[in-house]
Amino acid sequence: MIHKVLIANRGEIAVRIIRTCREMGIKTVAIYSTADKGAAHVRMADQAVCVGPPASAESYLNVPSILSAIEITDADSVHPGYGFLAENPAFAEICENYGVKFIGPSSEIIRAMGDKIEARRAVQKVKVPVVPGSDEAITEEEEGLRISKEIGFPVIIKAAAGGGGRGMKIVHSPASFINAFLTSQSEALSAFGVPDVYIEKYFEHSRHVEVQVMGDRFGSVVHLGDRDCSVQRRHQKLIEEAPAPFVSARIRNRILKAAVDAATAVGYNNVGTIEFLYVPDGEFYFLEMNTRIQVEHPVTEAITGVDIVREQIRIADGKKLRFEQKDIHFHGHAIECRINAEDPETFVPSPGTIRSCLFPGGFGVRMDTAVYPGYTVPPTYDSLLGKLIVHGEDRNEAIMRMRRALDELWIDGVKTTTEFHKKMMGNSDFAEGRLWTNFLAKSRV
Ligand code: ADP
Repeated sequence: MIHKVLIANRGEIAVRIIRTCREMGIKTVAIYSTADKGAAHVRMADQAVCVGPPASAESYLNVPSILSAIEITDADSVHPGYGFLAENPAFAEICENYGVKFIGPSSEIIRAMGDKIEARRAVQKVKVPVVPGSDEAITEEEEGLRISKEIGFPVIIKAAAGGGGRGMKIVHSPASFINAFLTSQSEALSAFGVPDVYIEKYFEHSRHVEVQVMGDRFGSVVHLGDRDCSVQRRHQKLIEEAPAPFVSARIRNRILKAAVDAATAVGYNNVGTIEFLYVPDGEFYFLEMNTRIQVEHPVTEAITGVDIVREQIRIADGKKLRFEQKDIHFHGHAIECRINAEDPETFVPSPGTIRSCLFPGGFGVRMDTAVYPGYTVPPTYDSLLGKLIVHGEDRNEAIMRMRRALDELWIDGVKTTTEFHKKMMGNSDFAEGRLWTNFLAKSRV
């Protein structure tokens, strides 16, 4: 039985996990770097252990330090949150060997899905469509060029071990291919330690639609519906909503079934997300599987009423899923805006001290954050200050509620993306569903 969870993360997600643990009567251990001494997650947890200096490599990614923290606090499980060690199969394996429950899927699955080429192959076996592209890693630029001509330009070159949009290059014509290929390879090597890249057809007018799935250790898999995360900048999500709007019931059902088939095929055994590229009005293709909790999980919680972190913990504790598909009911529409400490025009990070702040509330509003008045946003980590989530009867009501909540949100001392979101909530393309993933690169909001 899980009694004490060490949370190998920081910021809003650490706070988010502590909240559910509290409600489940589970003790929590925070870890922190010296830059996070005064952080909310440190204050909220039952115990806290400093694991190193500010640099992530020496603290939040420092496995020996984290293992020592587990040892001295007698934690029986680890929740990795997202980012940092969440999709690191070696860390999950060490926990398994050490008798510590890793709150996520088994290391084997993390390893398999972390290789995007292997993931593509695994889902193709159960007839889930993948983006047209190469089935193997490509090492030679000439071979890459030949394959790209076969697929047809534009193409996108991706790192097999990729994540966070790193190593990805869109190529519009054969003339610029070789350069882009070599850059992608070297970025892949420096970011992920492996130079393997592969190539996909690039769809200019596509949307990012993903499905939240949940599987237990007994072979049961259900989905918790879909989300749209098309509003992105440099392949990083900014706004997410559930359900994905402007998708016909027929296509939605096919996407949901494909996600459950894919998760079942790999024996998926925790909560996870299957990402698809949706090309209106018809085709959809598997992109990748994320084997962790996602930043945008609260929109799904809003429309299903399921606490996803609670289910993660239960599954890792060896329990059976509490739900069959027919028990999952969907209600209304939810939208999440990521409030980053960034300039709302240029998106340049804006670390600094928050002099004062007031967060929105009221009916249908949730703010997940770890900042408070006087808090200094360190320059060392990502710039997410918090997530503003609203839930309404339908999409229009959710948009109106988000506008109201954004007007209430007040953060003084650092620049934030709030103004960007206000503009988006009034944008006609957003309102009418012209939500391509390259929307921000193409238009001025
Ligand atoms: P990462 O793991 O780095 O996040 P993904 O493969 O999930 O990379 O792609 C990130 C984003 O890039 C997607 O959400 C989508 O917006 C865009 N993208 C990826 N592949 C394609 C493609 N073949 N055509 C168009 N857009 C794509």
